[in-house]
Amino acid sequence: MRQSKLFTRTRREAPSDEVAKNAQLLVRAGYIHKEMAGVYDYLPLGLRTLNKIIGIIREEMQAIGGEEVFLSALQNPEPWKKSGRWDDKVIDVWFKTQLKNGGELGLGNTHEEALTALMTEHISSYKDLPRYVYQFQNKFRNETRAKSGIMRAREFIMKDLYSFSADAASHDAFYENVAVAYENIFKRVGIGAQTYRTFASGGSFSKYSHEYQTVCDAGEDVIYIDAAKRLAVNKEVYDDQEVYAASGLTKENLTEAKAIEVGNIFTLGTRFSEVLGLSYKGAEGKPKPIFMGSYGIGPGRLMGTIVELLSDEKGLVWPESVAPFAVHLVSLGKSGDDASQLADALYEDFVKAGVEVLYDDRDTSAGQKFAESDLIGIPKRIVVGRDAVATGTFEVVDRATSAVVKKTRVEFLAQ
Ligand code: ATP
Ligand code: MG
Repeated sequence: MRQSKLFTRTRREAPSDEVAKNAQLLVRAGYIHKEMAGVYDYLPLGLRTLNKIIGIIREEMQAIGGEEVFLSALQNPEPWKKSGRWDDKVIDVWFKTQLKNGGELGLGNTHEEALTALMTEHISSYKDLPRYVYQFQNKFRNETRAKSGIMRAREFIMKDLYSFSADAASHDAFYENVAVAYENIFKRVGIGAQTYRTFASGGSFSKYSHEYQTVCDAGEDVIYIDAAKRLAVNKEVYDDQEVYAASGLTKENLTEAKAIEVGNIFTLGTRFSEVLGLSYKGAEGKPKPIFMGSYGIGPGRLMGTIVELLSDEKGLVWPESVAPFAVHLVSLGKSGDDASQLADALYEDFVKAGVEVLYDDRDTSAGQKFAESDLIGIPKRIVVGRDAVATGTFEVVDRATSAVVKKTRVEFLAQ
């Protein structure tokens, strides 16, 4: 893509009311726009990164047998009344609204109720099990604290996966498959080393759930880590003696850290299937409630976490796997001169070779181009100026390490 065609501008200052580092940098680099507190728009660069993250999550969900759907954000109150979660005292983040011709509806904050009710039309026998259904879908939550930028938005995309199993044993096996998929995801987006499987309170059915918590000072949670075992416990269960038996951890060996909950996995058991009538006939013909789990990841929260962890004083720093482009090609020529012609030719080479390249073809100063390039954070920068014309080699600068290597066009394209 030619940068002259990119409508977004970078800016020196973040909005004065924006306190989160992730949103400050993403706004300045033109990745997102802040509508109002806790409400953000994704612009071309931001959407490319968000979609890369979503793509990685989707691959891992497909690998464990997930089937993708897209449910409506508009929620029928009936299943929520049956589960007891329509009440604002039970779910304190509800956005609700009225139909013009009468009747209430909700904007979905999660989809257990809607999907469980839907699945009653598709599951009736043990032969229909197990089923694993997931989506990337907008959730609406009337969050009272919206100070963490895109990590805590009032409208955000969630990857929510739901599992439908015949019994607890087959559920447990799938639950561990999800744990592996989650670990792959966090590794692939570049935060694996800082992310811990964490025992947390279980909610409705099981004693504990698992969160994936990424150690970071911008986090809203406090966890206690055993780094060698790669496990942690959330502060909410730290004083519960039983968690040590369940986790095999020893309280004295744990160290405290602030962390961001990037994902979680829950055993729901029959909490929703019983009240919503989702059952199957076993081999002997008696109806049994289906055993469920739910598994969330926020791609936007993940994107914010990557920014919090990896960016530096000059701007964003993306791992290759989620960068909006692989290469930032910066021409120091003026339109029509040798350097600009060489940069044009290199750009065409890259496009033909399928390299994702952002090409700074604008007539602005070198200093401004470099500063903006640092802010945007694409992993590799290639500079084409008079030197490149004279020598036939280009400087390739690594955004994360500042390391410079010289390469010819042929060498670079051969990679
Ligand atoms: P938290 O305790 O941080 O509010 P939660 O327990 O409400 O999280 P879930 O309802 O299980 O989280 O949501 C699943 C995932 O969705 C979370 O692990 C997180 O990655 C993401 N998520 C939750 N709330 C938000 C939000 N307001 N903005 C962006 N992502 C979110
Ligand atoms: Mg929440």
